[in-house]
Amino acid sequence: MKVYIQKAAELIRNSKAMIAFTGAGVSVESGIPPFRGTNGLWSRYDPQCLDLDFFHSHPKESWTAIKTIFYDFFGNAKFNEAHRVLADFEAKGILKTLVTQNIDNLHQMAGSKNVLEFHGNSQKLICPQCKKMYVPEEINLDVLPPLCVNDGFILKPDFVFFGEGIPEEAYRRSILAARKADVVLIIGTTGEVMPASMIPSEAKRAGATIIEINTEPSNYTNRITDIFLEGKASEILLELEGLIYPEK
Ligand code: NAD
Repeated sequence: MKVYIQKAAELIRNSKAMIAFTGAGVSVESGIPPFRGTNGLWSRYDPQCLDLDFFHSHPKESWTAIKTIFYDFFGNAKFNEAHRVLADFEAKGILKTLVTQNIDNLHQMAGSKNVLEFHGNSQKLICPQCKKMYVPEEINLDVLPPLCVNDGFILKPDFVFFGEGIPEEAYRRSILAARKADVVLIIGTTGEVMPASMIPSEAKRAGATIIEINTEPSNYTNRITDIFLEGKASEILLELEGLIYPEK
């Protein structure tokens, strides 16, 4: 592991176009569980609340679960050291683009700027009719479902529901960044959710070296990963930061 992490630090230090690709695992240490698994969100909530057809046919029921998960719970989460190190890598010019599948806004709260939100962002709401955007603080979530002040349409959280397409711009820019990348840092994702999961493979095909951080092997590990760093995202990223910037 020591040799691996030193090699990874060297690759990151010498990279010219590194991207990061993050998943639910990067936010686990902020207290946000992944969707799947024994303690996952779907062991407590019904995933149908995020199905687009169900949302349209049962807005109040859907919104009741959405409020609990994404505003009462996600809304109070704080970024952790993994988010912070990634934001610092970007500020120092070493990380060019961060593609995230997460919808919790924690990368942005930590200071990351060039974030491509593959699945949108739960901390924004949109009126599907007039496209007016809201932040949760502007909305009275005691009365559900919340309505647009312009036209009375039911507001929708601005993330990708089951049965909904990927935001075009994020998709296009993620593919471009992947094709240009020389190093990809995959962090905390099983790589099971398509089409997001193909971003690292796209980079690998174009010649990038893949460094993966996860507490356990994923779909990528034995397929495209060059260096697997087993452990918690914050611990491994702090160690990498210490090797890349020993003076800090
Ligand atoms: P996933 O739930 O399929 O997998 C989580 C991965 O993180 C696993 O491989 C697990 O081993 C790893 N992991 C757990 N704790 C870790 C830690 N401390 N450090 C490093 N790795 C750790 O997550 P996914 O692959 O991102 O796919 C789930 C989908 O659900 C995504 O599309 C995402 O949009 C959504 N989701 C988002 C959030 C969020 O915004 N925080 C939370 C849950 C799910």
